[in-house]
Amino acid sequence: MIDVLINLKLVFFIFFLIVFFSLEFFFSQRNTEKKFTRLFFHSCFAIFNTIIMRIPTIFLLLPILLITNDNNYGLLNIMEFNFLIKAILAFILLDFAFYWFHRLNHMNNFLWRFHKVHHLDTQMDVTTSLRFHIGELIISSIYKSILIIFLGVPMSVFIFYEIILSLSAQFHHADLKLPESIDRQISKIIVTPKYHTNHHTVAIESRNANFASILTIWDYLFFSLKAADNGERRYLGVKERDKQFGFIINLKEPFINN
Ligand SMILES: [Zn+2]
Ligand SMILES: [Zn+2]
Repeated sequence: MIDVLINLKLVFFIFFLIVFFSLEFFFSQRNTEKKFTRLFFHSCFAIFNTIIMRIPTIFLLLPILLITNDNNYGLLNIMEFNFLIKAILAFILLDFAFYWFHRLNHMNNFLWRFHKVHHLDTQMDVTTSLRFHIGELIISSIYKSILIIFLGVPMSVFIFYEIILSLSAQFHHADLKLPESIDRQISKIIVTPKYHTNHHTVAIESRNANFASILTIWDYLFFSLKAADNGERRYLGVKERDKQFGFIINLKEPFINN
């Protein structure tokens, strides 16, 4: 059962990767260069990460999910909610927690060393959603485990959240140009490509803001909504411009003193 759900996430991910990658050729806002090199390089990242992440998934996340569900541990199990209410609450609380995790990744020097690898990309398209340092993913799986047991997240809701989170990441990293008025309306609720472009700017004010992963309400509530101007949105990444590619360079990045 669990295996089926995990594979479902993978199937969704690959399907939408192909969909967004194809759409980017027709509705690009930045004319991202070297698209196939990027696809190849970031796919190497994803394959490497998927293989390594089997270990914390099998030995940490899944046992925590099973223990939590079997024993009804966690905040959401203290009160008698029906399943739908519990599922909605769990989804919102997970998204709230991920907002803070992302924010912490930018504020804390140790976490930034790993998260910076995602921001070393000097462009942004759907393949950027594959670009995460394995260290960040391992730290995030420990964080997820604490959340599951503390909140009492049902297994099906956790996997549903993970699927929506990865679809959202693909969508908001995609190099797609939505009509301005539609973008403005949608971004009041969920993260859009333009919204997340603000977060990938070299400009520090907008990069250290716009942390939302799915729901944008958290940026409104915690005063971290900062739109960049058009010029800033064209200059993406961090100041170092030479680490867009290079698997070993990126893998070593968190451990280099600079
Ligand atoms: Zn970030
Ligand atoms: Zn991003």
